[in-house]
Amino acid sequence: MPIDDLVLHFDPPAFSLDEARQVLETHFGVSGELKALAGEREQNVRVETPAGELFVLKIAGRELDRGRLDFESQLLAHLNWVAPDLGVPRVIKSKTGDLFVDHRFAEGAEHPLRLLTYLEGRPLGSSEPLETSVFFEMGRLQGSICRALAGFFHPAARSPIPWDSSSDRLFDQALFALLDEETEDALARHLKRLQEDSLPALQRSRAQVIHNDLHTGNVLLDHAGAVSGVIDFGDSLHGPLLQDLAVSVSGLAELRHGEAADAITALVRGFETAFPLLPEERALLLDAAILRSLLSVELCRIKADGYPEVSRHGHVLEDARQGLFALLALQEQRAKARPARIEKRSTPLIERRRQAMSPTYKLFYDEPLEIVRGTGSLLYDAAGREYLDCYNNVPSVGHAHPRVVQALSQQAALLNTHTRYLHDEVVTYCERLAATFPAELDMCLLVCTGSEANDLAYSIARHVTGREGAAVWERCYHGNSGRTDELSLYDKDEASRAPHIAGLPIPDLYRGPGSGADYVTSGCKALEALADSPHGLAMLLVDSIFDCAGIYTAPDGYLAALFDRVRQLGGLVVADEVQSGLCRLGDHTWGFQDSGVVPDIVTLGKPMGGGHPLGAVVAKRWVLEAFAAKKHYFNTFGGNPVSAAVGNAVLDVVQEEEILANVHRVGGYLSEGLLALRNAYPVIGDVRGKGFFVGVELVAGQGDSTPTPDATRWVLNDMRRRGVLVATTGLHSNVIKIRPPLVFSHANADRLLETFEASLKGWAAKVGG
Ligand code: PMP
Repeated sequence: MPIDDLVLHFDPPAFSLDEARQVLETHFGVSGELKALAGEREQNVRVETPAGELFVLKIAGRELDRGRLDFESQLLAHLNWVAPDLGVPRVIKSKTGDLFVDHRFAEGAEHPLRLLTYLEGRPLGSSEPLETSVFFEMGRLQGSICRALAGFFHPAARSPIPWDSSSDRLFDQALFALLDEETEDALARHLKRLQEDSLPALQRSRAQVIHNDLHTGNVLLDHAGAVSGVIDFGDSLHGPLLQDLAVSVSGLAELRHGEAADAITALVRGFETAFPLLPEERALLLDAAILRSLLSVELCRIKADGYPEVSRHGHVLEDARQGLFALLALQEQRAKARPARIEKRSTPLIERRRQAMSPTYKLFYDEPLEIVRGTGSLLYDAAGREYLDCYNNVPSVGHAHPRVVQALSQQAALLNTHTRYLHDEVVTYCERLAATFPAELDMCLLVCTGSEANDLAYSIARHVTGREGAAVWERCYHGNSGRTDELSLYDKDEASRAPHIAGLPIPDLYRGPGSGADYVTSGCKALEALADSPHGLAMLLVDSIFDCAGIYTAPDGYLAALFDRVRQLGGLVVADEVQSGLCRLGDHTWGFQDSGVVPDIVTLGKPMGGGHPLGAVVAKRWVLEAFAAKKHYFNTFGGNPVSAAVGNAVLDVVQEEEILANVHRVGGYLSEGLLALRNAYPVIGDVRGKGFFVGVELVAGQGDSTPTPDATRWVLNDMRRRGVLVATTGLHSNVIKIRPPLVFSHANADRLLETFEASLKGWAAKVGG
């Protein structure tokens, strides 16, 4: 449809106030003082009832598409239902319960009528001077409206309207014939890019129902100058999300011309607090706004040409042209600034990292990866290549889970403080977290990392028992703080460990000399020796999956026997669930539950925040009461409302997506597949662990269990080349560690098994086996 056909019918009806009074009474049972308001396509009449309520009666042209009217009315009803505080008009139903009614006026034609609540306030665009913070608030409100509309659709949302800056019509010959010389000159350098790259990119970008007319004339300020509401949903449509922001950016350029840059930055920042943009959307925004300004210039020209007697159109056209020039200038400024940045970026990232970051940080793989995006169990590198993530446990419910992202951004846009104020989200999280544990473990302390949780647990144990000694397992890891480093024996021989730390042997039934019962005996011996020493036994700390040591599960009865012995010796038992917790082992929510034991204290970290730093100590009430009597504890970031909102979202997903059942089912399938590979490939000495925490130990094979770190490293890198990411662990780095996000599917497991087999074959071919 040519754009002129879409645009030129915009004469609003002009009935008398008496006629308006009559239809108000007939269809809505509303009466009051009436006042005519301006309107572009509809006749608007303000009504003030004797009770002081304010409405606006909207009488549309008889030809107005009833589908679009229904769309707009349903949209307002939806917004008022899902986000009643946003400040958008409410639709008042007619006496017949309809959102709009057709009325036959005396002159014979039927016109649709609607009654909306009238929002008081003055348009932001006609209020000067304005603080930049007002534009931030405008952006935040706009982002909130977009978020509230994300789940809404109506068939008429796709019907064509003139104000659609991502439509192909924008580059119609007919439209371009309207460009004048000055506009054409300014555009010339940009036209090819806009037409060939930017418009198609905008058309491909995320789409949903949007307001599509959120310029500063449609945003209201209250008497204190704060952003209070948004009006005029008459141009709403289903289109690119970015188009909504592009309208506002273009509107700011029309308002402020060459002085718009700060206002635009504030607007976008505000928008992103409510609705984060994708990197590609951010890069496209200025061009999307230019496309909108181009459309504004042309539609305003059509109006000015068609109605030369209305001088307002001339002003609007001039503002639109100035806005377009301002955006083109801004785009050119950015383009000029770009070479400097490119120069800096031409240094390889790995080199810049070496210069800027301590050598203590290590990279995975011979060819390190630059991962820029993730979703579920999939990761994408900077070149757009997809990888299957079989390693990361921190994004427990999958990378960038929308539920978690939404909880985080929503709470971050509202408030983030600490535990010195009451906050429902934080208390709720502690209640819900404690409810996932056996009944005795019923109180929480919130922290940010696993190290903090273990450090705190050790402090609790020391204060409660009055002793210093801690028993841990050999080769395990518990954190990076001074105290937890002492507890981590993975890198310490006898000589380098602290005197108050005792090491228990790992219950290694593959390589080690003993049975489960032998390991109970040797463990008890170590506990008793520490209890008898001047340090005494404050606690035993256990990672139920013995991750860093090479991934082992506790033999039957093993932990129960050791826990009993610790309690006889007056110590506390602490379970470090940083690795084994939150359904990872597939039978219970927490790893220690596999052994039928109940610790006195449990420490949590990595998976709890689905990618966000969140840890906790959950303990028996008497333990935390005894600790509080002796020691004050405060953690600036631990227990902040944003982290709590994230923690709650993760627990929601765990429940709703039946994560435990998934780990049980797919984990069992995965282990069966790996055991089948062990039977076929002698290089696999052992398959251990359970659920989504599996270790595959590679050895010389044919009865020879000599560790083969070279083979392991080769297989690891070969799998990476094939697009599947695993890591290694264990004393000799010869255990392939498989620990995927908890949403890992059957299909993911098949891809992992097939790739693993291909790499094992590759290794066999390489060494001639
Ligand atoms: N405990 C265990 C068992 C761990 O594996 C780790 C981290 N690898 C920690 C504690 C420490 O957690 P964080 O790195 O979050 O401090």
